[in-house]
Amino acid sequence: IQSKLPGVNTTIFTVMSKLATEYNAINLSQGFPDYACDPKLTELVTKAMKDGFNQYAPMPGLPALRETIAQKVENLYQTKYNPDTEITVTAGGTQAIFTALAAIINPGDEVIIFEPAYDCYAPTVKLFGGLVKSYALAPPNYSIDWEMVKKLFTVNTRMIILNSPHNPTGSILSKDDIEALIKLTHNTDILILSDEVYEHLIYDEQKHQSVMLYPELKERSFVVASFGKLLHTTGWKLGYCLAPAKLTAEFRKVHQFNVFSVNSPMQHAIANYINQPDNYTGIAQFFQQKRDYFRSLLAESRFKLLPCNGSYFQCASYSNISDEKDTDFSIRLIKEFGVATIPVSAFYQRATDHKIIRFCFAKENLTLSMAAEKLKNV
Ligand code: GLN
Repeated sequence: IQSKLPGVNTTIFTVMSKLATEYNAINLSQGFPDYACDPKLTELVTKAMKDGFNQYAPMPGLPALRETIAQKVENLYQTKYNPDTEITVTAGGTQAIFTALAAIINPGDEVIIFEPAYDCYAPTVKLFGGLVKSYALAPPNYSIDWEMVKKLFTVNTRMIILNSPHNPTGSILSKDDIEALIKLTHNTDILILSDEVYEHLIYDEQKHQSVMLYPELKERSFVVASFGKLLHTTGWKLGYCLAPAKLTAEFRKVHQFNVFSVNSPMQHAIANYINQPDNYTGIAQFFQQKRDYFRSLLAESRFKLLPCNGSYFQCASYSNISDEKDTDFSIRLIKEFGVATIPVSAFYQRATDHKIIRFCFAKENLTLSMAAEKLKNV
């Protein structure tokens, strides 16, 4: 058969987590917590199952959950989304991204992405015949020169994918970035896919610059969120997509055929859990402590830490340790030192090796300290 995705291999997250298991290494590679979620939440799932909510949820998501999401979004961003026509519950952020791209991208459409980029964007664009236009961000700050972005625009530019807080670099978009983006896209029909799955994981009192805060962007944006990150439940694969009614209508045409609807008892549980904001408002502080703890531990190592303003990832340069390729270095780190990480080159389309690896710090403090002990020997 002729591959639709030639050159695409098994994702780096699967590869690294598998190696971590094989070599019994501490797994700071794939982004997921190694501690339990709130037992109140699992009790709510059990209750929903016992109460008999075990059949299909409505196609766009449980109404009570969509209403709770609308309320949460309004509290956070002072903007309204209509639960009936503008909110769709998805099987995680991944399915929301896939569905939005499937609904919008036609062969020949160009999509601008900022690299390093989360690994599902480019292959999904290509699957629907789209062309990826990459803007390469540079360490240590991974900031965007919007004049350079403008140079990527053509008559075929259909969409820009944003991701703030950013995986893998932990950088965030500033108000100036957003204002530059508004100026650039003013009077165009370019759409935005704003991957905001780390919206709550933002540090040092900084404010998340959601596209939802800016009416001119909101009206052209799909916003993607993930309950995996909010509730420490990445394995539940639940999230949602917010978009104006016209865009949501197209989104749902695809959604109804690529999944139809998602896990019903968990939607009941989440609806009953997040309607009490106290259940999640401490999350930035929780992860900020982990970031600070992990950074203080690594300060005693030879790794050079990059800034981390958001997400649960800490990037570090090993350029004064080794000049190996980052893929080779991270494999050696697993085999010889017992710590699994992600080589940041995996987030670029073209070979780009800045000698930087990514650590996930969504882990027990004990896991982080045990990993740091090993990393101090590198
Ligand atoms: N988003 C997670 C990460 O960046 C992993 C998701 C996945 O395994 N596909 O590590």
